[in-house]
Amino acid sequence: MAKLKGNTLLVKENLNNSNHHVTAKNPLRDDAFDIDDNSKIKLIADKFKDIVEILGFDLTDDSIKDTPNRVAKMYVNEIFKGLNPTNKPKITLFKNEYEYYTPLVELNIPFTSFCEHHFVPIQGKANIVYIPKEYVIGLSKIHRLVNFYARRPQVQERLTKQIAQELSFTLKTNDVGVALKATHSCISCRGVEDLGSSTLTSTFLGQIKNDNNLVSVLLGSN
Ligand SMILES: [Zn+2]
Repeated sequence: MAKLKGNTLLVKENLNNSNHHVTAKNPLRDDAFDIDDNSKIKLIADKFKDIVEILGFDLTDDSIKDTPNRVAKMYVNEIFKGLNPTNKPKITLFKNEYEYYTPLVELNIPFTSFCEHHFVPIQGKANIVYIPKEYVIGLSKIHRLVNFYARRPQVQERLTKQIAQELSFTLKTNDVGVALKATHSCISCRGVEDLGSSTLTSTFLGQIKNDNNLVSVLLGSN
């Protein structure tokens, strides 16, 4: 799927909603999207009402009464919206007309994800590098892809691999590196309650893994 706009060849990802190239899968059932989003909100609100009630809250209280619906909408429309393939950002590639074949490094992309073991936030920054071949991507699209995969219940290791696999496929280059540094609320506000620790994960593909300088930049060690 290519079309000409001015002198620039734009390539739209025609399998935009397909994630077959991402082999690091979230543990979803095959029927995960048989129920539409509005029905999911209603069903989750009903269940969350039970949780609030079991905790002993008065559901007629002004402050609490809409909480089940608020939480359900937040799950489906905001914090877990990256589960639904139809929410994948539309990606447009540009032909690499300026023949830029050296690493492009995008640093400190903020993201909020959610631990799939406790459903509490994982917050951090992503450092990304890719070496363009035939195509380049608008920088903000890298941010949008990071956040699409972040907005799911996740483990950080899988999130890292998903972002790398997506960028490698989308940008048609194997030379991709991803490093995520994040704090996990399940470590800081429960369990060991260790405030201030962070978790660093990374995936280096193609030429990137042999480039010690780039690896250091991505890991934030220089
Ligand atoms: Zn956790």
